[in-house]
Amino acid sequence: AQPLITVSGLRKYFPVRGGILGRTQAQVQAVDGVSFAVAEGETLGIVGESGCGKSTTAKLLIGLTERDAGEIVFDGEALGERLSLKDLRRGVQMVFQDSYATLNPRMTIEASVAFGAHVQGLDDPEGRARRLMDRVGLDPARFAHRYPHELSGGQRQRVNIARALAMSPRVVVLDEAVSALDKSVEAQVLNLLSDLRAEFGLTYIFISHDLNVVRYISDRILVMYLGEVVEIAPVDSIWEEQAHPYTRSLFSAMPSMDPDNRTEKPPLAGDPPNPINPPSGCRFHTRCRFASAVCKAAVPKLAGLDRNAAHMVACHLYDPASGHPDAGQGGLA
Ligand code: SF4
Ligand code: MG
Repeated sequence: AQPLITVSGLRKYFPVRGGILGRTQAQVQAVDGVSFAVAEGETLGIVGESGCGKSTTAKLLIGLTERDAGEIVFDGEALGERLSLKDLRRGVQMVFQDSYATLNPRMTIEASVAFGAHVQGLDDPEGRARRLMDRVGLDPARFAHRYPHELSGGQRQRVNIARALAMSPRVVVLDEAVSALDKSVEAQVLNLLSDLRAEFGLTYIFISHDLNVVRYISDRILVMYLGEVVEIAPVDSIWEEQAHPYTRSLFSAMPSMDPDNRTEKPPLAGDPPNPINPPSGCRFHTRCRFASAVCKAAVPKLAGLDRNAAHMVACHLYDPASGHPDAGQGGLA
C-alpha cells in the first residue's frame, strides 16, 4: 500500500552568527537529507540525543518550519503542488512537550478544544468538544469552563490531545508529548494514545528521548544523529540488534528496567561534534570505535540488512563494497 506520509531529502540549515562582532554567517545543519515513509495506522518512533534534529524534522513535516529542500507527500499529494500548507496542517496535527504551548491561557478548555471544529465548520463545535473531552478522560462537567492554568500537566496534555483530534487529523506528531509528565501519568497518557490510535485509525510520529516509551508505542524506530538518519527498523528487530554503532551507544546508555541491574553504563565517548561544521563522511566517525579511513572519506548510504531488508542502517560495516576493513562481516555481531 502507498504510505500515508513520505518525506524525502528533507533539509534545513539555520543561519547563526559567529566570529568577531557576529559578522560571520555560519549554518547549523539541523536536518540534512532525512527520508522516511509512514504507513497508515503505523507509529514511527524517532529517537536521538537532543539537538539531533528530531524536533526540526517534526516542524518541517507540518510546515511550521520552512524546508530548504526536500519533498513532503501526504496522502499521495506533494506539499507546494496539489497539497496546500493549510490542508497539510489539518491532516497532520502536532502535540508538543510544553502543554501550555498551544493553549490560549484566556480561553476555556471547551473553547480551546472546540476551536478545531469551528475551523472546520462542523456542526455543534461545543458538543463535539465535550465528547472529545470525555473521551480523553476529562469530565466536561468539571473541566469545560476551566482555564489551562487550573489544570495539572497531565490534564493539559489530555486537552492538547483532544484539541488535536478536533481537527479530525489522520496523522498526529507527538514531540516529547509525555516527557514532562510524572511516570504514572505518563503511562496513563501513553495508554490513552494507544487506545485513540486504534479507535480513530490514527498514524503517529512519536518523538522521544526515552527509548522505553518509544518501544512501547512504536511499530518502527528511526534513529537520528547530527541531522541524519542512521538506522530505521521494526521495533523488535532493533531491540534485538542495534546495527549502527551509534544506536548501540544510545541503547547501552539507557537506564535498565530491571531494578537489580541499575549499574552505570559507559557514556558515549567524546563530545558531540559541532553541527555547524559536522564531520566529513560518516558524521559519527569522531566517536565511533570502528571508524576507519573510508568513514572519514565517504558518506554511508542507508541500506537494508542482509538478514532483514526492513532493518536499514547507514554504516560502512554493512556494505561489502565500502572498503571498510571489517565490511561485509555482518556488522558488529
Ligand atoms: Fe562507525 Fe564507520 Fe559505521 Fe560510521 S560508517 S558508524 S564511523 S564504522
Ligand atoms: Mg526536541
